[in-house]
Amino acid sequence: MKIGVLSLQGDVREHINSLHDCGVDALAVNTAEQLESIDALVIPGGESTTIAKLARSFGLFDRIQKRIHSGMPTYGSCAGMILLANNIQGAAKDQETFGGMDLVVMRNAFGRQVDSFEVDLTFKGITDPPLRAIFIRAPWVESVGDGVEVLATVEFDGQLHPVAVRQGNLLATSFHPELTGDNRVHKFFVENVCRNNAAHVE
Ligand code: GLN
Repeated sequence: MKIGVLSLQGDVREHINSLHDCGVDALAVNTAEQLESIDALVIPGGESTTIAKLARSFGLFDRIQKRIHSGMPTYGSCAGMILLANNIQGAAKDQETFGGMDLVVMRNAFGRQVDSFEVDLTFKGITDPPLRAIFIRAPWVESVGDGVEVLATVEFDGQLHPVAVRQGNLLATSFHPELTGDNRVHKFFVENVCRNNAAHVE
């Protein structure tokens, strides 16, 4: 199995390293040819508007969208979560997403860059020890459709907000597991989402 990391903007190398640590063949992807060669995709953190615009100018937007919608296992972290959501709150004017997940995602939900934080999370399927999660100008999930499973939540101002979600072959987190050296989310993607995807197609 070959997993691509969308390499237009954002923390591409960190995701490639995490996937390598899981024993997976991983490569940076920014051409149509590379996109065709992969079995699964990771969309990194960065800036969702910039990644979408660059995907357009590299002629990749429609191809990526088509592959995601035809079942390619895909994991989006932070900006990647925004790009996998069917609906965004706080979107920039004319902001596009690849979509695929029946989510409303709120951009910059926890506040500005200076409000970035770390917390230990309970993540369904990843137990002992708790998962250390880094949130950098992160989104949260405002609401989910029927087919979406919430894997982790964070309490903010007395309310629980989903920050890790799965819908069939698609996985998204508000946070950045590629920055902690703990590869259990990537392992979860590889072992549960990619390798089992036939069982989870909806
Ligand atoms: N705030 C960014 C956006 O809207 C996401 C931040 C991140 O990926 N760390 O795209």
